[in-house]
Formats: sequence, structure tokens, C-alpha cells
Amino acid sequence: MNLRCPVCGCTEPLPTKRWRCVCGRPFLLTGLPPFRRDAIRPVERGLWRYRELLPALDGEPVTLGEGGTPLLLEEWEGLRLGLKLEFLSPTASFKDRGTAVLVSFLRSWGVREVVDDSSGNAGASLAAYGARAGLRVRIFVPAHTSPAKLAQIAVYGAEIVAVPGPRPMATEAVLQAVDAGATYASHAYHPLFAEGLATMAYEVVESLGWRAPDNLIFPTGNGSLVFSTYLAMKRMQAAGVIGNLPRLFAVQAQGCAPLLAPWRQGAEDVPAIAAGETVAEGIAVTRPSLGRYVLQALRETGGAVVAVEDADILAARRTLASRGLYVEPSAAAALAALPQLRAWIGPGELSVLALTGHGLKST
Ligand SMILES: [Zn+2]
Repeated sequence: MNLRCPVCGCTEPLPTKRWRCVCGRPFLLTGLPPFRRDAIRPVERGLWRYRELLPALDGEPVTLGEGGTPLLLEEWEGLRLGLKLEFLSPTASFKDRGTAVLVSFLRSWGVREVVDDSSGNAGASLAAYGARAGLRVRIFVPAHTSPAKLAQIAVYGAEIVAVPGPRPMATEAVLQAVDAGATYASHAYHPLFAEGLATMAYEVVESLGWRAPDNLIFPTGNGSLVFSTYLAMKRMQAAGVIGNLPRLFAVQAQGCAPLLAPWRQGAEDVPAIAAGETVAEGIAVTRPSLGRYVLQALRETGGAVVAVEDADILAARRTLASRGLYVEPSAAAALAALPQLRAWIGPGELSVLALTGHGLKST
């Protein structure tokens, strides 16, 4: 099993401390076992049900019971929706799938100390799984991050390093810690994190009786969930488990939508944009690490990038709450995009929305 850059073709054997290619782009894993329905562990629930489809792990996984989230099927203003309740994960966000797999591998490689830059869900998730695995965890955050957002990271015992200046300075600081010997457990770049996220797509297809939905709609920051879902769908298609690839849609907040212009212009790469304001903090990423790969996936599947206004995000959040579903604003962005997405969604089609983070996170 190797890492390979799909753009310049550089390869890197595992285990490695490298977390991206020399060209700056994220690696992908190669040499994974092909998708097989009979490789699924029937008695196991949750993410590790798909263990034989993940890279081979030496030893027991680090788990908090992640995966296995409900898929609620609903009628919604004439649309057939599937709501994937990822906010019911151990630390209340979809990130736990990626973190569980990444931390399991890092521990099996003898890593003792991990770092990441995140003031939100990824930081809380790494803090929890790091505690579970007995790792030293340091999370680098912008100094202006509100204490409320840091409370969940701190309660697991992770060390919070506040970095003055704009968000990219926290990334600079984390890279210095990496140079000094720490392992970068990057939620934005690491391909093992992406493999953990890919299990959500396996679950959706399995819970629909081995059928893909017609459309999948994701709140999108770095693009890890949409791209991982693309990889998973391609594998299931190659194995003959599903037919056509579902359309994948990336939803961004209008206040911070770096994918939108490159999408409309038909560009390949996604340049960084200036920091923007939005209530959807979880997807406010000015330079999406997987931006190029996401655009390719959307084009191949017939999907699109759409951007939604904050007022519509907050209205969608209230609508979800009125049906008993309490999610953070970033998660509600997927529902807020539905009026725009009606242009793509055909009559009778099933559209699955990932509800990515819990509302209690943003109370
Ligand atoms: Zn490269």
C-alpha cells in the first residue's frame, strides 16, 4: 500500500510522516482491496463493519463507536430526501469517521504525539480519539477563537496552542511543530482520514438495499466528505454493486465560497480567496485542500457547486429543528441549497443530505 499524488504521480510508501505531496497536493491511497459486499463483517455495527475494505490495520482499531448513523427517509416539499444523521457521532460530527481510521493507523505505527490545526469539529474529534489512544494531542487554533468553541477540545485533555494572527498562521505554527518531530494528523490532507470518511457512502448504499441515491448533497469546506464519497462510489461501481454514479453537490456559504468561481469558469484548480464572514464556520475554508479533486468529481458525476446565503442557512436550521433535528449552521447549508438544486433533481429521485454537525456545538 502506497500514497500516490494523482496530479504529478509521486509515490510514497506507508508508514510515512509525509502528509502531502511535494507539489503541495493531497495524496491518495493505492493498493486498497477492491470493494466486495461479502467482505463486510455482518455482526459488527458502525464503521469497522467495513474494516476489510479499509487499508490493512495491524492491531485493534481505536474506536468510540463511530459510524452506523441513521438514514431518515422523508418527504420534503415534494422531494424524496434521505437525511444521514452524521451529527450523532461520538464527538457530534462526521469527522469522527476520518479520525478513528487515521488515529488507529498512527497508533499502530508507534506515533506518540499528534498535531492538527482546527478550532472546530476536527480539533474536538482528534482530541477525543487521541485521548482514547493515549496520544499527546496539540491543537493549533487562531488566538481569536471563542473559548466556547475550545471547550470540547480542552475537556478531552488536548493542549490548545493559540496562534496570533489570521487562520493560516495556525497552519504555519503546526508545520513548525511537525518539523520539530510531531505527526500531522491533518483532517484536510491525510488520505487515511479520507478513507474513514468513505465509509459513510458504503453505509448509505447498504442501508438503501445496495442502491445508490440519485443525488448526494454535502456542506463543503475542504471537500473531504464529498471527495471521499466519490472514491467510495467509484469503488462500488467498479465492483458492479451500483450502476450510475450519483450526482454529487458541494454546498458552500456565499460568504466563503472558493469553489464557486472555478466551478463556473471550468477551471481545474481552486485558488485561495480572502477570508469571508459566514455563520457556517465549519465550512468557512478559504483554500480547500481537496478543491481540485472535488471539482473533477462533481464534473464526472453531473453535479455542481452551489452557494447559499446565511439567512437561508439559518432558516434551514430552524426548519430542521421544527422536525426535531438540531444541527449546526454548516450542516443546515445542505438543506438551504435545495431550492437551487431543484434544477438538477429529477421527479421521484432520492437525494441524500449529510447532516454533518450537531446543533449543540454552536449553541
Ligand atoms: Zn504531486
